[in-house]
Amino acid sequence: MSEEFQQGRPSIVVMKFGGTSVEDAAAMKRTAAIVTGRRDRGLRPVVVVSAMAKVTDQLLAAAAAAGKDDRAGAIALSAKLRERHLETAAELVTGTRFAALSAKLTQEFDALDDLLRGIAAVGELTPRTNDLVVSFGERMSSRMVAEAFHEAGLEGQHVDARKCIITDANYGKAAPKEDVIEARLLELVLPLVEQGSTPVLGGFIGSNEDGITTTLGRGGSDYTAALVGGGLHAGAIEIWTDVNGIMTTDPRICPDALRVKTISFEEAAELAYFGAKVLHPATILPAVQKSIPVWVLNSRNPANEGTRITAMAPHCSSPFKSIAAKKRLTIIDIVASRMLMSHGYLKAVFDVFDRYKCAIDMVSTSEVSISLTVDSNEQLPAICAELGKIADVKYEGRKALVCLVGEDIRGHNGIAGRVFSAVSHVNVRMISQGASEINMSFMIDEEDVEEAVRSLHRVFFADPDTSIFDVAADAAGAAQALPAATPVSLQER
Ligand code: ADP
Ligand code: ASP
Ligand code: MG
Repeated sequence: MSEEFQQGRPSIVVMKFGGTSVEDAAAMKRTAAIVTGRRDRGLRPVVVVSAMAKVTDQLLAAAAAAGKDDRAGAIALSAKLRERHLETAAELVTGTRFAALSAKLTQEFDALDDLLRGIAAVGELTPRTNDLVVSFGERMSSRMVAEAFHEAGLEGQHVDARKCIITDANYGKAAPKEDVIEARLLELVLPLVEQGSTPVLGGFIGSNEDGITTTLGRGGSDYTAALVGGGLHAGAIEIWTDVNGIMTTDPRICPDALRVKTISFEEAAELAYFGAKVLHPATILPAVQKSIPVWVLNSRNPANEGTRITAMAPHCSSPFKSIAAKKRLTIIDIVASRMLMSHGYLKAVFDVFDRYKCAIDMVSTSEVSISLTVDSNEQLPAICAELGKIADVKYEGRKALVCLVGEDIRGHNGIAGRVFSAVSHVNVRMISQGASEINMSFMIDEEDVEEAVRSLHRVFFADPDTSIFDVAADAAGAAQALPAATPVSLQER
């Protein structure tokens, strides 16, 4: 084993730029300037990019339209995307490089149109084909960003991420095969770094071992960055987005949210899982396994220090670091008067969820009933019908989970009292604390979320610990990052 391998490759930094950081030619040029800054510091960047902002949603809409036999609607959506990409390309490069890039993009869009026509002809959209349609977003953005880098003198080299990110065949939410990924990265990406180029990969997309395109789930480009960082044993992973870092809550709900300077892996993972969109929930794992520090940074305000995610959190005088909220949940109440505690009963209940691959967020039991919450999904009627064979079942949608996260909950008494008096005007359905010692969460109606989060934020961040929270700069940073001056509802995003 080489010495470099044993120590990792500290000069490699994996930099992931989200949709807003590559939303147009100006954003791509800003991205190139940020990457140049890292190279000027002697670092060797490997770049992962999302699709241009909103493109993934539009591709999904095109696929859905084709699946419903709306061929014209699907092709019209694709035509708009074609125009946007070609216009952006024209602002990025000129001459023969523009000719080559536009020819490539045209070829990709022609293939997309053929695919959409095919879906419309068959009249059926399978998860596999859906992944193929949606993969075009990152395939094209990564080519364009590589060109923008070339223009900026960065020797950008496009790498088709599907050759490196090898996954299982669980379309829509494929699980990566880390050993194979590491081998592919060493074969296809490391040599480019060593020759002084800047590799650019699309996030989110991969392929199974038969070469069929897969995706890692919504928001999955963060996960790609962590897989690439882990596979290359990088010195750091940087997640560049449109806010100053991980904040005390979503600044779209609370414009006076503060930047959290340092947060632990465990806290960040908990926040991500319970709805903080700033990070994909699976991002943390590959980084933890290899002890690679992760940073969350603002591509519109690159001078800001961002948030550093580390193995250990420094002590914080407030119990919580941040408040997350997750909408579109359903509560299922399962009532079985005599059998609940009988042998094998709970297993039978959970087996039903397992068969439908339906993840459960929260569980609470009483003598006769189990209440649990799941992401709202189309399979719920079938799941509940099956549960109905062994119990009385009711379910109710439009629920949301509010989750307060912090390792310092442990040392504080009377926290629950403060939390629930802050939301005393809201109808709280389920409460959980204890399963994870670092979070306290409760379930409410979806329409109460914004108000509940703002009340909690007022109570718990009125007197912030300045060693952990950035009190000075963030009002300006958050405002700059947000085009909307007024808080918007999560639903509108
Ligand atoms: P990207 O396209 O860069 O991946 P995302 O939209 O996925 O960006 O994530 C960034 C968004 O996450 C922010 O604009 C913000 O509205 C939202 N967000 C939710 N919770 C938080 C939080 N605790 N801290 C920062 N941002 C948050
Ligand atoms: N483009 C994908 C999405 O919108 C992946 C990502 O941006 O992380 O979900
Ligand atoms: Mg994201």
